[in-house]
Amino acid sequence: MSLTPEQLAEIDAQRAATTPTLRATSAGMEGRLYTAHPVLDHGLVRVIDYMGDDAAICQAARVSYGKGTKAVSDDRGLIRYLMRHWHSTPFEMCEVKFHVKLPVFVARQWIRHRTANVNEYSARYSILDREFYIPAPEALAAQSTVNNQGRGQVLEGAEAARVLDVLREDAMRAYDHYEDMLTPDEDAGKLGLARELARMNLPANIYTQWYWKIDLHNLFHFLRLRADVHAQYEIRVYAQIMCDIVKDWVPQAYEAFEDYRLGAVSVSSKAKEVLKRRLAGETVTQETSGMSKGEWREFVEEWG
Ligand SMILES: Cc1cc2nc3c(=O)[nH]c(=O)nc-3n(C[C@H](O)[C@H](O)[C@H](O)COP(=O)(O)OP(=O)(O)OC[C@H]3O[C@@H](n4cnc5c(N)ncnc54)[C@H](O)[C@@H]3O)c2cc1C
Repeated sequence: MSLTPEQLAEIDAQRAATTPTLRATSAGMEGRLYTAHPVLDHGLVRVIDYMGDDAAICQAARVSYGKGTKAVSDDRGLIRYLMRHWHSTPFEMCEVKFHVKLPVFVARQWIRHRTANVNEYSARYSILDREFYIPAPEALAAQSTVNNQGRGQVLEGAEAARVLDVLREDAMRAYDHYEDMLTPDEDAGKLGLARELARMNLPANIYTQWYWKIDLHNLFHFLRLRADVHAQYEIRVYAQIMCDIVKDWVPQAYEAFEDYRLGAVSVSSKAKEVLKRRLAGETVTQETSGMSKGEWREFVEEWG
């Protein structure tokens, strides 16, 4: 993460200025507010604003006149009940606004989540910084031989060095051309290309930034998909930091999310039958399970 001293001073100043409020606050989230958490080589995630806490979820569920809290233990039970039974609207009463700096190819995956409000840095208006994602050596993986959408063993030695050189050289050359196209030169009669056009030769590992606001229910949906081991590493690392932030913000809701969503598995009716038959001592094979070969492979991966 490369924040300038001025940007760091702005964040410190924001954290130093406090205002009394009648609104619900979360002590864990107050500790996170504005602070930049580094991700990848130049990326970051930070919370800009938030609304609500665990009690606000219960307040909405009970449509209460006061804080909604009866006792902390009652709240925990209610939140777990809501999560368990997919009673999702009380979670939508909490909102969070993030500032995220991320490579463009990660942003393309991220933007598929349509239930957020987004405002992105304008490369029509401003000149992009010379910042490109170059994977750390341990993230430089070969194509997976078993999963078309995944990565396999880590590249090493001369191959790894060559790939890193190519990535760096291409990024720098593209940025040099970007700068050159943008720059007017009166002596040479050169006007300089518009920013909105000059950007088109930049590679997808250049960094962009956005403000991203979402409610807690939809954030949990995003985190369930993107903190999962099947998500690409470069988006997963953002999701993992956001999980830590949410855990501090709404610890009871996060605990229920971890239990009923992140760590849970969904079981088809056929798989449920096979599990029952196994518990009754029966030996079940793919042929007698009623499942396809693919379903059976995934079932065995999960349940042995
Ligand atoms: C591991 C992984 C691999 C992927 N691979 C591919 C791929 O190869 N190609 C590809 O194109 N995408 C791919 N995706 C993206 C994926 O298909 C979804 O677009 C993305 O995960 C966003 O999910 P979502 O639509 O549920 O989320 P959101 O857009 O946040 O929506 C949340 C929920 O709101 C509802 N909703 C939102 N908008 C609408 C709407 N207009 N109509 C009806 N319901 C709506 C749905 O219930 C939805 O689940 C992949 C995602 C993952 C996690």
